[in-house]
Amino acid sequence: MASHGNPTSFAATVFDYIIVGGGTAGLTLAARLTETPNITVGVLEAGLDRTSDPKVLTPGFAPSMWDDPDYDWIFKTTPQIHGNNRVVSHPRGKQLGGSSAINFDYWTHASQRDIDDWGELGNPGWSWDELFPYFLKSETYNPPPPSTSSQVDTTFVSPPLHGITGPVQDSFPPFYDNFYKSWEPTYKNLGLGPTGDPKGGRAIGAYTTLLTIEPKNASRSYAGTAYWRPNAGRKNLVVLTGALATRIIFARDKGVLVATGVSFTVDGESYTVSATGEVILCAGAFQSPQLLELSGIGDASLLKSKGINLVYDNPNVGENLQDHVYVPLGFEAAPGEVTFESLRNETNLAEAVVDYTVNHTGPLASGTSNAYISFSQILDALSKGEQSKHGKPAK
Ligand SMILES: Cc1cc2nc3c(=O)[nH]c(=O)nc-3n(C[C@H](O)[C@H](O)[C@H](O)COP(=O)(O)OP(=O)(O)OC[C@H]3O[C@@H](n4cnc5c(N)ncnc54)[C@H](O)[C@@H]3O)c2cc1C
Repeated sequence: MASHGNPTSFAATVFDYIIVGGGTAGLTLAARLTETPNITVGVLEAGLDRTSDPKVLTPGFAPSMWDDPDYDWIFKTTPQIHGNNRVVSHPRGKQLGGSSAINFDYWTHASQRDIDDWGELGNPGWSWDELFPYFLKSETYNPPPPSTSSQVDTTFVSPPLHGITGPVQDSFPPFYDNFYKSWEPTYKNLGLGPTGDPKGGRAIGAYTTLLTIEPKNASRSYAGTAYWRPNAGRKNLVVLTGALATRIIFARDKGVLVATGVSFTVDGESYTVSATGEVILCAGAFQSPQLLELSGIGDASLLKSKGINLVYDNPNVGENLQDHVYVPLGFEAAPGEVTFESLRNETNLAEAVVDYTVNHTGPLASGTSNAYISFSQILDALSKGEQSKHGKPAK
């Protein structure tokens, strides 16, 4: 496996901070820490630098990266007994930029209530009010041109709630098909449209979602292009790709456990690198706990059964994962309606590639949108629809 950087000289450097995982969080932290020139940061990323790869940069190609080992870790669940024993895919980005390189590009935020709950669970500093300045700092909002706002409703956006100088570019994509144009009014007619700019703290309803797309050329804006590329020349930042972290090394300082370095492999060769400050785990929701367990932090009985020496007993590590499901529903389209499926046809795909490359528009420049709606709202809207069908006026 090719690597960016030299593993021998990386291992010979003593960094202030070592970041494990050059994904969304890892590259953001690396960029912010190295704004201070005398702080040195080393990043270990198992995947490669694909920041010039058209598959990554073209929003419409995102699904083509899932299940491809060059881009995706291709995690699968065990058969799910409550899901008819189905095995469910859990794509996770394996490359610089991590999952932000393979995601849907939605620039969405949770509601204020959800963020405040984090803080109230015992995490000082993680309230909406404390995080909001950082939401602004990360973003450059690009207002829609008239050619876009004439196609879909973009009036719910309140510009003061958006950043204008951050590294992540967001915009409304230039292209919407007929299905998309019906989606939005359908929700509105059911009373489930946006209740304001979701960025204001109330993310409820269906709305045309801002996407992390650089409008100049309709390319993906993500951790790789926003936080790594502009800072790749910093002398105090070293990123090693193709480097798999295998264990965090601990020492005890007056009885306190301190992470002092990381063992990693490149092309099957093992290395160790040291940090004087901190080792920061940013390997994602699956692999950060995995690496803790491999390093001896986890459930004592589980680690013993796997032959791993216990460093610290914490039965919560690697447990209680919850994720949202993504269940695509297929509908038969009326004859003549163009759908994404038409891109399976080589001629259509070739035309879409030209449209994207030359004009920065067309289906490959587009994405989808999302809706935050509770089951009770859906049931309510459906029952109103049933009532009006049977002659009773909808309230
Ligand atoms: C298919 C998909 C669609 C999504 N759509 C959206 C969306 O539209 N909008 C949105 O906001 N969010 C979306 N998300 C979620 C979002 O992308 C993630 O929550 C976010 O990227 C996670 O960031 P992270 O830094 O925790 O992990 P990641 O960005 O996944 O970074 C982890 C990094 O660590 C590396 N790594 C792992 N183990 C090791 C190791 N042992 N050694 C070295 N490196 C290692 C990985 O290769 C990876 O680069 C989506 C996610 C997926 C998978």
